[in-house]
Amino acid sequence: MAIRIATGGISQETNTFQWEPTSLSDFQKGSSKIDRGEEILALDGTGTIYGGIVGEAKKQGVELIPTTFGRAVPGGRVSKEAFETMCDEIVEGIRAAMQEPGGIDGVLLGIHGAMALEHNDDGEGPLLTAIREVVGPELPIVAPLDLHTNLSEEMMEECDAFVGYKHYPHIDTAETGARAMQILIDTINGEIKPQMAYVKVPLIAPNQSMVTTWQSPLKKAIDRAVEMEQEDDVVAATVLGGFPFSDVPYTTVSTILVTNDNPEKAKAYAEELAQMCWDLRADFEIIPTPIPDAIAEAMAGEPGSTYVLADISDSGASGTAGDGTAALKGLLEADARSASVAQIMDREAVEACIEAGVGATVTLTVGGKHDDFHGDPVDVTGMVRLIHEGSFEMGGVMGAGTRSSRGRTVVLEINGPGGIELQLTDLRGHPNDLNFFRAFGIEPTERRILVLKSAAHFRAAFEPIATKVIEIDAPGISTPKLTSLDYKNLRRPVYPLETDFDFTPEAILT
Ligand SMILES: [Zn+2]
Repeated sequence: MAIRIATGGISQETNTFQWEPTSLSDFQKGSSKIDRGEEILALDGTGTIYGGIVGEAKKQGVELIPTTFGRAVPGGRVSKEAFETMCDEIVEGIRAAMQEPGGIDGVLLGIHGAMALEHNDDGEGPLLTAIREVVGPELPIVAPLDLHTNLSEEMMEECDAFVGYKHYPHIDTAETGARAMQILIDTINGEIKPQMAYVKVPLIAPNQSMVTTWQSPLKKAIDRAVEMEQEDDVVAATVLGGFPFSDVPYTTVSTILVTNDNPEKAKAYAEELAQMCWDLRADFEIIPTPIPDAIAEAMAGEPGSTYVLADISDSGASGTAGDGTAALKGLLEADARSASVAQIMDREAVEACIEAGVGATVTLTVGGKHDDFHGDPVDVTGMVRLIHEGSFEMGGVMGAGTRSSRGRTVVLEINGPGGIELQLTDLRGHPNDLNFFRAFGIEPTERRILVLKSAAHFRAAFEPIATKVIEIDAPGISTPKLTSLDYKNLRRPVYPLETDFDFTPEAILT
């Protein structure tokens, strides 16, 4: 009889500095979605974790029993209702599968790793506990993890093996999903006996210091982890950068080693990777460029060049407001030409433009409305060039084969043709794909300046077309200046909030 594996999960990255909770309806709009049953299996071949999970299950002849998989654009804490609704569906789906002939042999969980709930600082721990209560202590549970996971003790206690992404931008989501499935199948077949060890390093780091398209400090440790995985009894070696914009006790850099029944090696290697990160702690600092300097450099560039100005402090993929105005204000002040901004979330402005209609000239106050952390509203006058319902196909690599949407989208042309193109949207976006411009009639390779509200995921698609990427210094709740954030719940001491303390890694076996 074929191996039977139940699967499902909840995936969201929580920025606790975002005041607006992520509700059940937020899981069902724009690029967010709740897939149920066969819809999960239809993710086969996409650039998502399930692209790999489903593909690998098929390849290995495993019967996959899908329950519910909810994923939401990063944002505020997940509401109690949203969590309980999806958690119950997953648990009930697993319970039903256990009662069918053949039962189940394991659970493959689709999670992110940095979810926090309205009623709990941890999201994945409680989900794992709820599942563990149904399946009992023996049945193996395996999950892939996002590189930005804030690892909790509860997660480690309830899961048999984790394997994390090794790339940021996360171009290896499908590959990691497939790897998790392989580990689960090998465990079920008795070919391996996963032994995990982990270390939480008292270090929080800005996202940009985790990027793997350059030799960032995190990449140096990840490279060593990849080397470790070449050894026969190392099942998975993972270095997690953590998600620094979650003010919860679990937010740190962490390491997880899974060996095949070799506790000494699991412990030693988890400690070695943790020591590497700790030794490099000072290198994790990121110093962004003042906006006027970035714009001046781009405007002085060679004809035909394209400069990406990354608004890393208002990154849609980090759960920020998405309506930060600092970059737009800078472009207006510099009278920039050939500049295209993706994008500012402002439903009110979108509605005003739609009411005025294509071709109309409008004067609006845009952005800076969601909270007090992303700059003041800015006055603009421009021509409504395009009104679009907002959805489009992702070109990839990330998210290839899926559709993205920021709700209704307007392109406003400011200072005439060749001036500033401003995209106004209903919903927060995550511009990590060239189609965030092309879908709206803008050819990114033909613009001098592209403003992207993105921490790092944009790099997969935009580094190849960019003359230069400049990370700009704007206000926002995904700022790399971590010491400026008002943390209250982190475990202390933690670098760089405290700098004068010692740390010696001691791995915990689970
Ligand atoms: Zn991530």
